[in-house]
Amino acid sequence: MNSVYASLGATVFETMSRLAAEKGAVNLGQGFPEDDGPRDILEAAARATLDGPNQYPPMRGLPELRQAVAAHYREHQRIELDWQREITITSGATEAIAAALLAFIEPGDDVVLFEPMYDAYLPMVRRAGGIPRIVRLNPPHWRLERDALAAAFSERTRVVVINTPHNPCASVISGEELALLAEFCRAHDAIVVSDEVWEHVTFDGLQHASMLQALRERTLKIGSAGKMFSLTGWKVGFACGAPALTEQFVKAHQFLTFTTPPNLQRAVAYALGKERAYFEDMRAGFQRARDRLVGALAGEGFVLLPARGAYFVSIDLAASGVGMGDVAFARHAIEHGVATIPLSGFYATPEPPNLVRLCFAKRDDTLDRGAEALIRAKRSA
Ligand code: GLN
Repeated sequence: MNSVYASLGATVFETMSRLAAEKGAVNLGQGFPEDDGPRDILEAAARATLDGPNQYPPMRGLPELRQAVAAHYREHQRIELDWQREITITSGATEAIAAALLAFIEPGDDVVLFEPMYDAYLPMVRRAGGIPRIVRLNPPHWRLERDALAAAFSERTRVVVINTPHNPCASVISGEELALLAEFCRAHDAIVVSDEVWEHVTFDGLQHASMLQALRERTLKIGSAGKMFSLTGWKVGFACGAPALTEQFVKAHQFLTFTTPPNLQRAVAYALGKERAYFEDMRAGFQRARDRLVGALAGEGFVLLPARGAYFVSIDLAASGVGMGDVAFARHAIEHGVATIPLSGFYATPEPPNLVRLCFAKRDDTLDRGAEALIRAKRSA
């Protein structure tokens, strides 16, 4: 059987959520909001289900949703997209990434990836036949730097995968960094698969910059309704890019999931039109949660890395005086009542930094109980 998958276990998210449930621990591991998204969006989905039709929608997505995606990005990011030629609706961002990698990579092509990286990327690149060229980003700022890009790019580079805001680093790539990357991609004729699912989750007034603005003709930008509307189980994603990329992309998409449930598509079309205040309130709510958790931990000697985007923050274990590796500490913490995500699982090269990720998209009492459990774990580490 295929060796890429044969060598893999269950994902770290699945494993930690299962352990949290078994042990009754507070789950600050897998990234999902404790509260479901807005009632009006849920009602729109319920109505759409009852009213139908519930038969196959068009392969590229319902016209009303593709139009809503175009309007949303025009309004929020000043990006102009042709809804008929440049937008595809997918069954979540993960499907979009898989379809993009299958569609763009020819076996033997070099694919530039940045480490740490979301767990799905590397197996999918390998399965598509890509040769990973891994650039390591370094804490606390995780910046893209010219020398590192120069070392990774070559005449074999065809695809680059980026993620901004970044999971698990909680960093946000600046417009200057995107311009630098665009320069390399133009020089090497490479396509960027840009995972921007956290685009609306940025903090401290920071603005998301899209790779589509830096490299319009060679970027496939991927978005996620699950992240925008706190409905992670819905799995409704958007893939946006120039017609030449989209035409190739849909050929993979049509034989992966083909379509995405039409009731959810109609509800997301409604949701994308939400007023700016909804997105501002969401950011403010997550920022308050971040500050509550960080405040509780920092007062107890934990050293945390900056959290500028996505609803995660990482503990620097060594700087916090914890003499355990990340996996050992995650196991120890779960015995003390809290699930976390060790970051070494997001590295393919040796000697990753010693960090664990916390998800703060939780209610106050959950954050407080999680912080107390972490403090207990630290004291007995
Ligand atoms: N995106 C989620 C996280 O980072 C995990 C999704 C999943 O479990 N596959 O925690």
